[in-house]
Amino acid sequence: MRLFVHLDMNNFYASVECLMDPSLAGKPVAVAGSPEKRHGVVLAKNEIAKKYGVKTGDTVSEAAAKAPGIVFVPPRFDVYDKISKRMFGICNRYSCYVEPFGPDECWLDCTETAKLFGGGEAIADGLRASIREELGITASAGVSFTKLFAKLGSDMKKPDATTVITRENFRDKVWRLGVGELCGVGGKTEEKLRRINVRTIGELARTDERVIKKLLGKPGVDLRRAARGEDEGEVREAVVSRELKSVSHGLTALRDLVTRDDGITLIKYLSELVAARLKKYGFRAGGIYLGLRYTDLSREGRQVALPSPMRSSSDISEAAARLFDELWNGALLRSIDVGTFALSSDRSPEQLSMFGDDNAKCREKLDDAIAAIRLKYGKSAVLRASQMDEDIYTDKNVGDFLPFKR
Ligand SMILES: [Mg+2]
Repeated sequence: MRLFVHLDMNNFYASVECLMDPSLAGKPVAVAGSPEKRHGVVLAKNEIAKKYGVKTGDTVSEAAAKAPGIVFVPPRFDVYDKISKRMFGICNRYSCYVEPFGPDECWLDCTETAKLFGGGEAIADGLRASIREELGITASAGVSFTKLFAKLGSDMKKPDATTVITRENFRDKVWRLGVGELCGVGGKTEEKLRRINVRTIGELARTDERVIKKLLGKPGVDLRRAARGEDEGEVREAVVSRELKSVSHGLTALRDLVTRDDGITLIKYLSELVAARLKKYGFRAGGIYLGLRYTDLSREGRQVALPSPMRSSSDISEAAARLFDELWNGALLRSIDVGTFALSSDRSPEQLSMFGDDNAKCREKLDDAIAAIRLKYGKSAVLRASQMDEDIYTDKNVGDFLPFKR
């Protein structure tokens, strides 16, 4: 069973404006395009304006009539963009699978990292707390075994709340909602469904599949499956933030990667680069991500939580190699990504395992020593045996290689 968290910053643009200008506190506020012209449109409103009935899409004159004393502010997309990026950075602490849905919403696939953080609800609460403390904005979150139920969950309690929708409670929590609430059901579809007396998500779920297929075709069948909790969905994008909440390296090989050894050779090299940057920035990683791109340009990726935060290149490459063995379908590879996420400061107290891994410390020291030698005498001063004669990332004619950072 998969585990998804959907996160939604509440009244995003308006929240940012209220945060930047304390004099707006206690007033109804709307962010609106060209408020000086009466036909400008409301893009976002704060909680107080909402209570007056102001809606996104209202014209400025409509909003002013509903909410006396409302303050209109023009949008500042560059500011929202910065805060949005920081939100995605916070999400990367919990998963590298983060799929944006607009600037203020996203899904996280936490299937493999939930254990590390004490479950989906703990992740959702942690995300909300960090966003509140670091960005000054409230967010609501939904936790569920399907993407669409997670999204419904983030909408159910606002602001600043977490809603958990499980296999056990989804019929009670979700089925009574209007079918139009389901992501993917637009006005036209809703109207068609109303004609056959389907008004709620539960009614859609209980309607015979053939009836829905006749009415709406294949997309309707998918919606019905979603309503029944049968469509998990997939968080496709591995967004590893540019903010230093994750560290990763990818490289397109100088030749196609054919064998497992080829793949592992590149993984070891990338792991060293990642480890060096983790050390430089003073982080340990709680999770590893591996991305593969085949010569037909199709991509696959997988992430895993580590039993305890790690920093050494051998720990990183071992975890990445295990992911490689699970993931690789044997076809020719063009490039590989090795990423880390769920970073913690390497100065923060470590949770010591009862069966303490003293070797981890040794490996870190070995890494540090190798890095110091290379810094002084050049990259080729110390090489692993596997790196002696490779032609995957070292072009003998050029002599150096250009990994890309993300
Ligand atoms: Mg929002």
